[in-house]
Amino acid sequence: MTPYQPFDISGRTAFVTGSSRGIGLSLARGLARSGCRVMLHGRDTASLETTRAQLEAETGAEVLATAFDLTDADSVASGVDEVVEAFGGRLDILVNNAGIQRRHPLAEFPVAEFDEIIAVNLKAAFLVAQRASLSMVARGSGKIINIASIQSSLARPSITPYSASKGGIVMLTRGLCADLASSGVQINALAPGYIHTELTQALVDDPKFSAWVTGRTPASRWGEVDDLVGTLLYLASPAADFVNGQVLYVDGGMTAVV
Ligand code: NDP
Repeated sequence: MTPYQPFDISGRTAFVTGSSRGIGLSLARGLARSGCRVMLHGRDTASLETTRAQLEAETGAEVLATAFDLTDADSVASGVDEVVEAFGGRLDILVNNAGIQRRHPLAEFPVAEFDEIIAVNLKAAFLVAQRASLSMVARGSGKIINIASIQSSLARPSITPYSASKGGIVMLTRGLCADLASSGVQINALAPGYIHTELTQALVDDPKFSAWVTGRTPASRWGEVDDLVGTLLYLASPAADFVNGQVLYVDGGMTAVV
């Protein structure tokens, strides 16, 4: 009897934006360990090459890397085209992960930082998906997973532009579902809770904030990057072929309880 393997994604190609470190690198590692050919992405070519070589040696998978700035629409278009070309015209899995956060009191929030947050977290996710979906639609299959946040539905002070960008990711996910579902492409969002990375290091180091996170999270701890990998692999797999336009919170229960 053929083994039942609904989560098998070996041999698929995957592109993870913002995978030079943190959550993106962990997701890329999970995909590589599952037998995918993986494209890392960031902005610094030299450090990306080191990370790429390490991941390839560690996983035995084919790992490629590309560097381009997501705030530049032309770079995004040519960058995504090069990714698809490097995979021989076939991109199976896109993870829109790159993101930034800035914290300022509302009255002092610089408009330039508002623009940057929206550009990286929301506009780039749209542009990358728009471009990457061309080959998916042509083939009639593909998985797009957008990294949202608990801030997609729960607000906190001093990060309103970030929350707005992550709320936007939810409707981006649903809108892309409306655009692409009939072409055999699934688009879902994975919404992490508080995860210990470079992005949150200052919060981890703040005893008062850190205690608030562990107290407010039913699991009573910060999340680790590897806590997100299983859900990503599920959403990228045939097991999720009829799951579309959804948001899956991976947050230790934070959004489930008051
Ligand atoms: P990190 O700061 O650790 O990593 C951010 C990644 O995004 C890096 O790879 C960085 O690349 C890339 N990036 C940032 N700006 C640009 C840009 N202009 N062009 C290209 N790449 C860029 O963040 P996390 O791993 O913590 O976060 C990853 C995602 O998860 C983000 O979308 C974040 O909002 C989301 N998230 C994180 C949570 C957390 O608690 N950490 C919780 C909920 C959601 P480079 O090396 O070039 O800087």
